[in-house]
Amino acid sequence: MPTLIAEGERKHVIVMGAGPAGLTAAYELLKREVAVTVVEKDPKQVGGLARTVEHNGYRFDIGGHRFFSKNDEVESLWSEILGPELLNRGRLSRIYYRGRFFAYPIKAANALWNLGPLEAVLCMASYARARLQPVKNPRTLEDWVRNQFGWRLFNIFFKTYTEKVWGISTKELSADWAAQRIKSLDLWVVLRSALFPGRKPTRRGAIVTTLIDKFRYPRLGPGQMWERVAEISDSKGHPVLLGRSVARISHQNNRVRAVTTQTADGRTETHEGTHFISSIPIRELVARLDPPAPEKVRKAADSLSYRDFISVALMIDRANVFPDNWIYIHDPGVRVGRIQNFKNWSPDMVPDPAKTCLGLEYFCFEGDGLWTMPDKELIALATQELGRLGMCSSGEVFDGVVVRQQKAYPVYDDRYQDNVAVVRDYLAAALPNLHLAGRNGMHKYNNQDHSMMTALLVARNIATGSLLDPWKVNADAVYHEDVRAGERDLGGRLVPERVPAG
Ligand SMILES: Cc1cc2nc3c(=O)[nH]c(=O)nc-3n(C[C@H](O)[C@H](O)[C@H](O)COP(=O)(O)OP(=O)(O)OC[C@H]3O[C@@H](n4cnc5c(N)ncnc54)[C@H](O)[C@@H]3O)c2cc1C
Repeated sequence: MPTLIAEGERKHVIVMGAGPAGLTAAYELLKREVAVTVVEKDPKQVGGLARTVEHNGYRFDIGGHRFFSKNDEVESLWSEILGPELLNRGRLSRIYYRGRFFAYPIKAANALWNLGPLEAVLCMASYARARLQPVKNPRTLEDWVRNQFGWRLFNIFFKTYTEKVWGISTKELSADWAAQRIKSLDLWVVLRSALFPGRKPTRRGAIVTTLIDKFRYPRLGPGQMWERVAEISDSKGHPVLLGRSVARISHQNNRVRAVTTQTADGRTETHEGTHFISSIPIRELVARLDPPAPEKVRKAADSLSYRDFISVALMIDRANVFPDNWIYIHDPGVRVGRIQNFKNWSPDMVPDPAKTCLGLEYFCFEGDGLWTMPDKELIALATQELGRLGMCSSGEVFDGVVVRQQKAYPVYDDRYQDNVAVVRDYLAAALPNLHLAGRNGMHKYNNQDHSMMTALLVARNIATGSLLDPWKVNADAVYHEDVRAGERDLGGRLVPERVPAG
């Protein structure tokens, strides 16, 4: 890395955003005795998407957060920060459809048993029909899945949930994602496992199951991890500055010089530094550059889009509602996509073991009908939907609260890679002391471990002058030096994309 600071000048890093990426960078830099200032727009808490919200003693996540990584360094870091406060948990998460629970990941034999004899026969018939008369050259997710499973199984297990999450018809989503992620159905295997359910899993099957079935979770929710890091930073004389939204990023002569923040009541502060790390959404970062970035770069950043998210937490006067950590809701008759049961993540998420706190998750776009619905109506909708699903009666719901989360998911549309590349190339050439890290910070739909790993690399580069490339961290949070940055399969987790035009 070229020397970016004058001789004798002490490094001081300004970090934008106190989510997992920003705080991991701060933690690593402070370990290496580099001065850090973290600025965060949330006025009350750190943790970003991985924060834990508290309401009258009930704690809940913005979506349940499993702590699980194939990267040993990240796993060790979590242990180092929280020690015994990080619990080992078993996972149960099933699909709920028309009053019945189905195994997740989907097991065809279990699905057929659960659907009952009539529906099972209809599903097998529709499967047979799809195999005999497949859609030729399937381009859409709908056609591909229908070819593999038949129309009826597609409708029950794929269509509703995919459309709830992404807000796009399965007719418009490309078949590629399904072809890479969904295992085809082999009728013989299904019948064999239906007839001989006690057969031992293979060794490989056992390993995969173990990885899927266990995870770690902080006793008081994911936010506990990030509150602890903020405490450590504070104890070293570098408190995280809450309630400061990045308003301007001033640069001159190919260097960012300062970040100006603004509080809700309009007070501004200017934070000068030698190096800058951004974990805030790329769209916001570029919009705040002063002087402005070239038009092409602004246009590319503005074209990045996001899916937003609402969690309605309902407190229920019952000890046990269901045993799962979370349930996928495939019923087309309700709008809720997933339901979390936080006491099954950690018993200490509720103040009273006789009560339950459920998080009903609604996927939406900022400004749409769900997003703009008043809190009272959202709580009523969630309560009504719980009743309709037969989970509990409305009389058992004694409290509720709504959390709206902007930019929960960076959207992978057919132009996003080009748009991100335009911004990346510009920043690398024009402002080499500004580093991108994290989920929206790099526009990558990845988990905490990935966000943390990118931040660790960036922090190390700043502290030691190494040249690690955070864009080479793959979806498993593993750093792959030997492949070209930006290669498609390293871009992160696969998600459904729109069918390409033409
Ligand atoms: C529903 C859901 C479920 C998930 N489940 C899991 C899971 O089970 N396991 C897992 O590992 N990961 C999970 N994730 C992913 C995980 O939350 C993210 O990977 C991680 O939080 C990203 O960290 P980050 O620091 O990059 O970004 P963020 O968490 O988004 O943090 C960015 C921070 O920047 C701040 N900010 C934004 N704009 C400004 C500004 N202008 N000025 C100042 N500050 C600003 C934000 O307030 C925020 O605190 C889930 C995510 C969602 C949405």
